[in-house]
Amino acid sequence: MDEKFLQSDSIASWGRVIRASHRVARPRFADELPGLITAGGDTPALPIGLRRSYGDSNLNPEGRVIDMTGLDRVIAFDRTTGVMRAEAGLSLSQALQLLVPAGWFLPTTPGTRFVTLGGAVANDVHGKNHHSAGSFGASVTRMKLLRTDGSAQELVPGDPMFHATIGGLGLTGLIEWVEFRAVPIPSAHLDAQDFEFGHVRDYFDLAAEAHTRAEHTMAWIDCLSGGARLGRGVLSAANWSSHGGLTPHREDPKLAMPVDAPGFTLNSMSVRAFNSVFHDLKRMRTGPYATHYEPFLYPLDKVAHWNRLYGRDGFYQYQCVLPPATARDGVIELLKVIAASGQASFLAVLKNFGAHPPAGLLSFPMEGATLALDFRNLGTRTLDLLADLDSIVLSANGRLYPAKDGRITPAMFEAGFPKLQDFRAYLDPGLSSAFWRRVSG
Ligand SMILES: Cc1cc2nc3c(=O)[nH]c(=O)nc-3n(C[C@H](O)[C@H](O)[C@H](O)COP(=O)(O)OP(=O)(O)OC[C@H]3O[C@@H](n4cnc5c(N)ncnc54)[C@H](O)[C@@H]3O)c2cc1C
Repeated sequence: MDEKFLQSDSIASWGRVIRASHRVARPRFADELPGLITAGGDTPALPIGLRRSYGDSNLNPEGRVIDMTGLDRVIAFDRTTGVMRAEAGLSLSQALQLLVPAGWFLPTTPGTRFVTLGGAVANDVHGKNHHSAGSFGASVTRMKLLRTDGSAQELVPGDPMFHATIGGLGLTGLIEWVEFRAVPIPSAHLDAQDFEFGHVRDYFDLAAEAHTRAEHTMAWIDCLSGGARLGRGVLSAANWSSHGGLTPHREDPKLAMPVDAPGFTLNSMSVRAFNSVFHDLKRMRTGPYATHYEPFLYPLDKVAHWNRLYGRDGFYQYQCVLPPATARDGVIELLKVIAASGQASFLAVLKNFGAHPPAGLLSFPMEGATLALDFRNLGTRTLDLLADLDSIVLSANGRLYPAKDGRITPAMFEAGFPKLQDFRAYLDPGLSSAFWRRVSG
């Protein structure tokens, strides 16, 4: 066994369904990477970041993993152009500490800032501003990729390997550093407004209208109400404010979930209570309001380890996108099945993606509506429900997000990603993941 890789039981993804021992290397300096990436022999490697992917795309129990979080240095930052080059293990949170005081922000950001640049590229992550800015990959100007054959290349937009690596799930090579273009902001605050809708069918017109005037939009959905209140929710829309100054967020979350919550804390009653409290809270926000970016863009980061709330067996996240032609009916159908199942979803987010061309061959975003929900892992009961949801997504010509997935079939994956065959030509044969072995049949 290679002594640079040590046995560890602490590698899990955000959903915590899979518990498996891994052999892990934790490099601190870039000059360690060529030795690690080529060290494998027959056991495939996988670069990983902060493990905020929910399922098994960041797990490789039969192989080795290279934990990139020790490589977190900013290499260059031009305060006049907003171009930042940094090691791939730098978190978005760390990047913001430098960007915001200088009047810049990430081009787009997922709903947590605890994501590395490498992870943001490998899943081509999206944010609440997809309709206005596209996905993260659209702002990447250059990156360095190391392959297991010992080769190293700098990639720029237009290179085929560049577009395979954006959204490439860590399977085309190890990204050593990423260069991206930040966007200018007048302040760290947003001018926001909330709009309530009593049924999910009303969300679509509301969102279409909000997109014409707001850079950031998303809706929270109550998945437990059915009938006349099916998918009732609150749409939030915001633009950068010109007031409030350029103070970045506090780095550490204020609260933490200490241990695994016992199973009974998260039953359908408590989730119903949570959703209804949340709904009431949001409803009280009438009229425009000003907010720092932290609570608006990263509401869940307030509680560290909130994933422990689902107990020791973990949870699945289900995120799909449905094209415009089927989005309204498809989302209604999905919510009907979820509401009828009695399997509560603690969080449900609905948002529309814009018509931007995909930045990568396997990029998840496509024009349409994306719905994301959490399901506590109740074994086959949950898996059966998710398989029912798959059928609806398939017949609506939709796809599932690999970053959130830990269970889809090869057929479902192939149906959702028409460029999958093209992507295979760029795979690094020395890399693999639990996700990839599963969907490759
Ligand atoms: C609360 C929460 C909210 C979220 N909201 C969103 C959202 O709004 N939009 C969205 O798009 N996603 C969202 N996500 C998912 C998250 O953004 C992605 O899963 C992201 O890729 C995680 O990055 P990571 O650093 O944790 O990487 P990991 O989860 O550790 O790895 C993710 C992938 O990146 C690859 N990888 C990591 N580093 C490298 C590297 N240096 N070189 C090559 N490949 C690498 C891995 O192999 C793996 O395939 C959310 C996750 C959470 C927990």
